[in-house]
Amino acid sequence: MPTFVYMTSCDGCGHCVDICPSDIMHIDPTYRRAYNIEPDMCWECYSCVKACPQNAIDARGYADFAPLGHSVRVRRDEEKGTISWRVKFRNGTEKNFLSPITTKPWGTGYPELKDEPAPSNEMRDSQHLYSEPKYIRMDDGDVHTLESNKLKMKLGVYY
Ligand code: SF4
Ligand code: SF4
Repeated sequence: MPTFVYMTSCDGCGHCVDICPSDIMHIDPTYRRAYNIEPDMCWECYSCVKACPQNAIDARGYADFAPLGHSVRVRRDEEKGTISWRVKFRNGTEKNFLSPITTKPWGTGYPELKDEPAPSNEMRDSQHLYSEPKYIRMDDGDVHTLESNKLKMKLGVYY
């Protein structure tokens, strides 16, 4: 159970879908609630847990602090600026941790990518990208942009 969504708490806002680096949080088209479509591919990065305004997502804790049989609840409190973790161990022990929220408010970290110039050929041929072209579709000699691929950048959730 890398992540698990409580359907009665989720309101389908899609923040977890936007932020998941593994693209495995999706909105069920019928119930309009989020769920993890590929638990095996979850990095357990907790990004979705921290982004969820409804505290609707549970996640498995790392084995070093919470061995099998535990449960972890993470609650983010924007007003207090804190994020708290409640870990219940299988022997009944409960531990609570409280930390300040150190991320930016939701939505303020979006760069205006649509206003950024396309990368130049020099940037594309940079040593920093020596193993990348094949994977970022730049291997046919031209620089790909959203426009050249007939794509548009949108903010929000794709259902
Ligand atoms: S914990 Fe990370 S990888 Fe796993 S579903 Fe959430 S955002 Fe995606
Ligand atoms: S961020 Fe939380 S409330 Fe929003 S869709 Fe995901 S699980 Fe549901």
